[in-house]
Formats: sequence, structure tokens, C-alpha cells
Amino acid sequence: MRILVTGGCGFIGSALVRKLVAEGHDVLNLDALTYAGDERSIAEIANAQGYQFRKVDIADAGAVASAFADFNPHRVFHLAAESHVDRSIDGPGIFIRTNLVGTSVMLDSAREYWRGLDELARAAFRFVHVSTDEVYGTLGFDDPAFTEDTPYAPNSPYAASKAGADHLARAWVETYGLPVIITNCSNNYGPFQHPEKLIPTVIRTALSGGDIPVYGKGENIRDWLYVSDHVAGLMAAADAGEVGRKYNFGGDAERTNIDLVRTLCRLLDDKRPSPKPYEDQIRFVADRPGHDMRYAVNSARARAELGWAPSVTLDSGLSETVDWYLAHPDWLSRDAAEIARLGLGR
Ligand code: NAD
Repeated sequence: MRILVTGGCGFIGSALVRKLVAEGHDVLNLDALTYAGDERSIAEIANAQGYQFRKVDIADAGAVASAFADFNPHRVFHLAAESHVDRSIDGPGIFIRTNLVGTSVMLDSAREYWRGLDELARAAFRFVHVSTDEVYGTLGFDDPAFTEDTPYAPNSPYAASKAGADHLARAWVETYGLPVIITNCSNNYGPFQHPEKLIPTVIRTALSGGDIPVYGKGENIRDWLYVSDHVAGLMAAADAGEVGRKYNFGGDAERTNIDLVRTLCRLLDDKRPSPKPYEDQIRFVADRPGHDMRYAVNSARARAELGWAPSVTLDSGLSETVDWYLAHPDWLSRDAAEIARLGLGR
């Protein structure tokens, strides 16, 4: 198949692109290469037959329309986004532009292109809009996990911009019949994640001998999913998902942040021993404003209707992830000065 991916130089997008190319699909990767995009994440397939890259801003309607016209995709996976909650608190404007305006451009270019296809191709076309569980807001400790019917209640500018994008995607199905599927996934982890995010930050700061920053008391709970399991879910949604339907993906692996950080410290004690336990470097810092207390995702629909299930346990996934970052110190030091200046990475 010819598959158009946006954000394919980012953390999840690059894992998807690597998988699709390995499976023999033709892939066009549209990515603006913002601070979050890094071509090293797709280096292993950059010269593969059938892979193409275009440096495109998804809010640029002309460039997006040309990409559709030139490539004639059977499928679209839309992942390009501004993705870091802390940055959205410091500067929400770019989140509105990329996540909302960019998504509207993607949907409308897809609609124009799709309208011109023959009947068979129109029926087979799929646009997978990739979103987050953060659109649902926050849970109390005893609340049931988010289902696809949980009302939207986003709390951060990032989550609100993604929620708005989900509403646009829904409207393009209801109004125009564009065959869109929306997916909402929990926190991902694995290789090639930007070092400003929690897990790479813990590893980087631990190895540097400095403070390992943890927001508040570290009691916030997240549900972790290994990135390759998310990729498998996105592909299953495109293959077997019902048009206009939403699918949640989660790892059934809820952990408090402090538990997760301590687990990473213990893995590092084992794999890269230092004179003192890494846990001694943990420092609690002032909490993030509007910090959601708990996310938990009910993936029953994806399991029943897509035949999807996570295949990597949190223990083995974290161990592999630590191994990868230990083997790639150059990746961990990426943008270090800016991350320190902005106080990111908690
Ligand atoms: P990321 O920040 O690692 O990568 C984003 C990519 O999008 C980068 O390559 C960047 O260059 C590109 N991009 C940004 N603005 C662009 C623009 N205007 N035009 C074209 N490209 C642009 O993000 P990620 O963690 O890989 O997340 C990918 C998608 O998955 C996002 O839509 C995010 O909301 C969603 N998601 C992420 C997680 C997670 O835990 N990381 C969980 C659920 C859903």
C-alpha cells in the first residue's frame, strides 16, 4: 500500500514508519522537522526502496495538497503534533496552530483528494487520526478507566488542542463522510523518545549525577504502553476499525510516577552501577499547574473488535528501553542546554 504518515520523524511516527517500510509498504513521511523531529530516528530505513520524505508543515495547505496529489495514498496516519504538556503551558499558540489548524488542513486535503477517487478506492481509503487519553481529563484513584464514551474534559492546553482536533476529525466523518478512525492512547515509552520526556529525563539526569526531578510528590498515575504496541494498534485500527469509531489503547500498566522513577533507578543500579544508589538523586519539585492526577485506559473495545492486545510487559519494556538509552548517549544529550533552560523533562 501507499501510506502517508505525518510526524514520521518523531517518537511514535518513526516507529510506525520503520514498521510500515519493513513490511514492504511505500511510505511518504511528511514532517516539518521541528525541535521534536530527528532524522536519526528513521536513519535505518532512509534509503529503503519505497520510502520518501518531504519536509512539510501540516498547516501549509498547498504543500499538503501537493503531497496527496503526487503520492495517491491508500491510507493516512496523522501523528504530527506538538506533544509536550509543559511546553503547551509555556506557549499554547503553536499547539493551537499545529494540532488544531494543522489537523484541519490534513482533514480537508484528505477530503479533497478522497472525493476525486473512484468508488472502490474511496471505500477502501482510511485516515487514522492519532490522539491521546489526555483528552478525557483526569481520574480519581477509584474511578473506572477511560472508555471511548468518557466525556472530554481536557485540562492542559496540549490536551485541549488534541481534543479539538478529535472533534474536527469526528465532524469530517459526520459532515463529509471522510473515512476517519480516531485512536486515543495512554503514555508511550521506548527508544527514540525526545529527551525532554519523563523516562529519558530520568535516565539522563541519573547518569549525569545531578538531581532527578519529580513533580509534586510523584503520586500522579500514568498507564504505560510500549511504543511498538501502540504502532500495532494503529495498524490494526486501519485494517479492521470501523469508520467513525474511536479506539482506546492502554497498557494496563498503571504506575505512580515515583514508582516508575524508582524502577528506572533500580534498572540503572543493575546495568550501570554507581557508588551510591541512583534513588538518592531523586528531588521533588513544584508541581505542574493543572497536573492530571491519574490516567487509566480501558482498551476492551480494541481487544474485542481489532484483536489487539499489548505484547510487551512494563518490566521487560523498561529494561529494553534503559538498554537502548545507555547504548545511545548522543541521543540523550540532544537539546540538553534548551531542556535545562526551559526546566523541562519531568
Ligand atoms: P513527538 O513530539 O515525538 O513528534 C512529533 C513529530 O511531529 C516531530 O517529528 C515533529 O517534527 C513533527 N511536527 C510537529 N509539528 C509539525 C508540523 N506543523 N508539521 C509537520 N510536522 C510537525 O510526538 P510523539 O510522542 O511521537 O506523538 C505523536 C502523536 O501521538 C501526537 O499526535 C501525540 O499527540 C500522540 N500521542 C502521543 C503519546 C505519547 O505518549 N508520546 C501518547 C498518545 C498519543
